[in-house]
Amino acid sequence: MSEIIILKKCTTCGEGKTHGNFRRQSKNKDGLKYTCKICDNNKAKDRYKNKKDTIVLKVKEWQLLNPEKVKMYKKKYRNKHIRRS
Ligand SMILES: [Zn+2]
Repeated sequence: MSEIIILKKCTTCGEGKTHGNFRRQSKNKDGLKYTCKICDNNKAKDRYKNKKDTIVLKVKEWQLLNPEKVKMYKKKYRNKHIRRS
């Protein structure tokens, strides 16, 4: 008996891949996601990167708006982490 391999086309990279390369998604017809695991991972990475960039920007903006508070925090940080005997 030969195994029948059904390929599913990933909507992101356009490659035909076996079902094992797709994550499950019960709401879809075939129970699998439209994008393959690799593309899925790449997307997740992008999302994380974008999110990180926005967070960094927000922090920088806040620091610009609150220079006194930044000074205070830095002082606190130093006091907490550098202990001289
Ligand atoms: Zn793909």
